Amino acid sequence: MAFTKKTVRDIDVDGKRVLMRVDFNVPLKDGVVTDDTRVRAAIPTIQYLKEHNAKVILMSHLGRPKGDGPEPALSLKPAADKLAELTGYDVKFVDDTYGEKAAAAVAALEPGDILVLENVRFDKREKKNDPEIAKTLASYGDVFVLDAFGTAHRAQGSVVGPAAYLPAVAGFLLEKEVDTLTSIFAEPERPFVAIVGGSKVSSKIGVLDHLIDSADTLIIGGGMAYTFFLAQGMSVGNSLKEEDWVERAGEMLKKAEEKGVKILLPVDNRVADHFGEDAVPEVVTSDAIPDDREGMDIGPETEKLYAEAIQGAKTVFWNGPMGVFEFDNFAHGTEAVARAIADSDCTSIIGGGDSVAAINKFGLADKMSWISTGGGASMELVEGKALPGVEALLDA
Ligand code: ADP
Ligand code: MG
Repeated sequence: MAFTKKTVRDIDVDGKRVLMRVDFNVPLKDGVVTDDTRVRAAIPTIQYLKEHNAKVILMSHLGRPKGDGPEPALSLKPAADKLAELTGYDVKFVDDTYGEKAAAAVAALEPGDILVLENVRFDKREKKNDPEIAKTLASYGDVFVLDAFGTAHRAQGSVVGPAAYLPAVAGFLLEKEVDTLTSIFAEPERPFVAIVGGSKVSSKIGVLDHLIDSADTLIIGGGMAYTFFLAQGMSVGNSLKEEDWVERAGEMLKKAEEKGVKILLPVDNRVADHFGEDAVPEVVTSDAIPDDREGMDIGPETEKLYAEAIQGAKTVFWNGPMGVFEFDNFAHGTEAVARAIADSDCTSIIGGGDSVAAINKFGLADKMSWISTGGGASMELVEGKALPGVEALLDA
C-alpha cells in the first residue's frame, strides 16, 4: 500500500502562504533543545518549501501546557533557534499563536521566509479541535501541510482543523512514515521477524494481533513475556504480570500456532530480588524462576536464540525493549537485540518511544533502515488503524 494522499509535490506553493503543522515537541533543558531528532526530521519539507518560494508558517505543540496562556518554559523559541542553527536559515519567531501579533507576523512574510508561531497548546481549545482555533490558523495560510507524524493520530485543532478550510497535503516526513509503516505489513520481504517487548501485554494487544497476521516469526521479550509464561502454566515469581490478560495471551499463542507463525519466548532470564538500579542480575531458566525473584531482562541463551532468528530475517520490525534497559544491569538483552539487528542486512523498522531511546543510548540509530519519529502514531498504524490527520488530507 503506497501513500494515497497528495503531498507538497502535488501543489503549487510558489509565493503562497504555506501553513505547516510540524512536530517540534522536543525535550528541553534550561531552554535548550536536548534532542533535535524531531527538528531534523522536519527539515526536508521546510527546505523544499523555501526553495520553491513559499512563505512558510510553522506551528507545533511542545510539552503539556495548561492551556490558559503563555508558559515561558514551554515556548517554541528554542525549537525555532535550533531550526535556524541546523539549516543556516533566518528563522523568524513570534510569541503569539492566535492573536493580532501572529497575524501581523504572517502578513509581513516574503516568499522564502520562515516563521515559527508560539506553542499551539497555550490555548486549551486547540486540543478540543475548536472551530475558532481552526479558522484562525487557516486564515494564516493558502494551503495546509501536515508533516507532524507524531501527532497525526490526534484529531486536534492544529492537526486536522485547517484541513476543513484549506487544500491540505502531506509533507515528506509524514509520507515516508506512513508509507514505511504500512508497506512492510502489506508486502514484507520474508522471512519477516517481528520483535515485541515492553512492560505490558495490555498496551500492545492490537500490535501483537496485527503482527501475528503478517510476521513469520514473532519474538516476545520484556515484562510482557511473563504473562505469556502464565498462559503456558509456568510460574513467574514476582515478575510483572497481568492476570486479566493471561487468557488473551493464551489465545494469541493458539492463533499463532494455527497460522504457522513461530513464537519465540525467553528460555532464560536475568532476574533480581528487587526492582532497582542497584539490583544484581542472576540468570535462571524460564522454567525455574524462584518465587522471590522478578524477571528484569532476557538471559544470555535467549539473546543467542533471538540473534539467530534476526540473522535469518529479510525484514525486522521492533517495538518494545527486552528488559528494564534504563538500568545498566538489565540493558544487556535490549542491546543484544539492537546489535543483532544492526549487524544484519535486513530492512529494519523501529517504532516506540522507549525502543528508540534504547537504540539511541547504544549509538546504533544510523544502523537501522527506519526509526519512526512517532510513538503512539506508529503503533496505531501498526495496529492497522487510520490516522485522523492523514484521513483529512486530499486524496492523490
Ligand atoms: P515502547 O515505548 O518502545 O513502545 P513500552 O513503553 O511498551 O516500549 O515499554 C518500555 C518499558 O518497559 C521500559 O520502561 C522498560 O523498563 C519496561 N520493561 C521492559 N522489560 C521489563 C520487565 N521485565 N519488567 C518491568 N518492566 C519492563
Ligand atoms: Mg513507551
